[in-house]
Amino acid sequence: MSASNSDRQPLVDGPRDPEHDPAASYALEPGYVSRLTARILATSGETHEVLSPLDGAPLAHIPQSTDADVEEAFRRARIAQEKWVRTPVAERERLLLRLHDLVLDRQDEILDLIVLESGKARKHAFDEPLHIALTARYYGRTTAKHLASERRPGVIPALTRIDVNHLPKGVVGVISPWNYPFTMALCDGLAALAAGNAVVAKPDAQTMLTALLGAELLEQAGFPKDLWTVVAGPGDKVGTSIIQRADYICFTGSTATGKLIGKQCAERVIGCSLELGGKNAMLVLADADIERAAEGATRAVFSNTGQLCVSIERLYVADEIYDRFVGRFVARTQAMTLGATLAWENDMGSLISQNQLDTTVAHVDDAVAKGARVLAGGKARPDLGPFFYEPTILEGVSPEMTCFGTETFGPVVSVYRVTSEEEAIERANDGEYGLNAAIYSRDTARARTIAARIKSGTVNINEAFAASFASLDAPMGGFRQSGTGRRQGAEGLLRYTETQSVATQRLLRFGPMFGMSDESYAKTMTLALRALKALGRA
Ligand code: NAD
Repeated sequence: MSASNSDRQPLVDGPRDPEHDPAASYALEPGYVSRLTARILATSGETHEVLSPLDGAPLAHIPQSTDADVEEAFRRARIAQEKWVRTPVAERERLLLRLHDLVLDRQDEILDLIVLESGKARKHAFDEPLHIALTARYYGRTTAKHLASERRPGVIPALTRIDVNHLPKGVVGVISPWNYPFTMALCDGLAALAAGNAVVAKPDAQTMLTALLGAELLEQAGFPKDLWTVVAGPGDKVGTSIIQRADYICFTGSTATGKLIGKQCAERVIGCSLELGGKNAMLVLADADIERAAEGATRAVFSNTGQLCVSIERLYVADEIYDRFVGRFVARTQAMTLGATLAWENDMGSLISQNQLDTTVAHVDDAVAKGARVLAGGKARPDLGPFFYEPTILEGVSPEMTCFGTETFGPVVSVYRVTSEEEAIERANDGEYGLNAAIYSRDTARARTIAARIKSGTVNINEAFAASFASLDAPMGGFRQSGTGRRQGAEGLLRYTETQSVATQRLLRFGPMFGMSDESYAKTMTLALRALKALGRA
């Protein structure tokens, strides 16, 4: 039973009242877990234990797949895809729009599962069904337009006709992380299905249940059996098995893993999109609305406890407003509420694991030991749950500190004073990443000029990340070490297609005709080339 839907069958036993009880445990009904895990193609007989970060107690045991299971997943997927590619695009769009409605209808169950598996605050979990509904509606309304064949000019005007077609790759492997377990497991795969592909998905081991609920929703929406198969297991085994068989890989995760995957895809000469890490910067210019910038910074730094690829970890603030901005930002941060609950109570939840907590503690402790000042937070909170850490603002961070250039992926930000816009731009472009950036300024035209000089795949003006991420027609992805390829928009769908050019030649053929010598042919063609240039032809 969820906090906001008391009619539904109980899914979870455990504390959900705002008064947190750290001693109590959450438990999923065994029947519910087995209904979801039955979707995994897994015959090893081995299981992997999933814990809930809310209380650190076991939540489920996930069956693990073998290499033979992955082989079988691809065999089934290829059969399903051959039928699917002949399914009219209008029907594919209809199923996506049905998924949109189902996600909104079953929202409470989705939110419960996300919170249980990830430990995030319910309001941050809500971003996930929201994003999947937006994605389903977007591709449900635009796939026919994106996939339509295009006529392009041929070499000989009127006599050479060119049709450019977009054909599906075949079976796409989707390897996804744990931080947005519903969004990341589904969003990229929806575009792959829309383009006429089948998907073999390997979600992260920590958040399999949410990903499996996504697979159940796809089936309920009417997508054919075997078009979306889920396998489970360690990335270096099951992920590698997928890469060895797929026609394209969509990977979201760390830059280190992305590099390994990119190499393996290159060996097989298959394409891949790599959505990787970031160390995203926000610029607060001298003419910024300070309250608005402080609100945006609080959301951008601490959403999903900082475990968000587009979250802000570096803040460059104009000297003129530095003290006022930092005062408001610190006050907002100190007012945030933290806690472990399924209810809509808190401003921030838990980190997902001991690993994430260890990294966060190490980054803050290293910075403090080397002279950084803690303006807010700075401590783990085991009293709230095993992996809680306070929202933390650091000042005086310098290059020898780990968190200066390395992604923390936790609720920690460094604030820096800058004395000019040039300095802000230069420092925002520092480092190896380039995923997202934000600019706060009342002069939006000027901010757009500055945006063109920032080396990142998305730039949000007077917003931190949500405006670009939720605008589904806008491509999203990374410059530099933040990745290659784009999700969302036409680009996010066409990456899963092969572009085919079909040339139809009429009347004249290529080469000498009517007894013409090779030399006369060359002279005629030379004249024709000069004429086409003079006519302005491309
Ligand atoms: P990770 O690279 O450790 O794991 C991501 C996925 O890859 C998991 O499913 C994992 O099992 C699998 N994997 C691990 N090793 C593999 C291998 N050798 N071969 C194949 N698959 C393998 O990443 P993580 O730490 O779980 O996720 C956090 C990172 O993801 C952060 O750096 C974050 O910025 C990034 N991220 C990026 C985006 C984006 O859109 N750019 C979105 C979310 C997260």
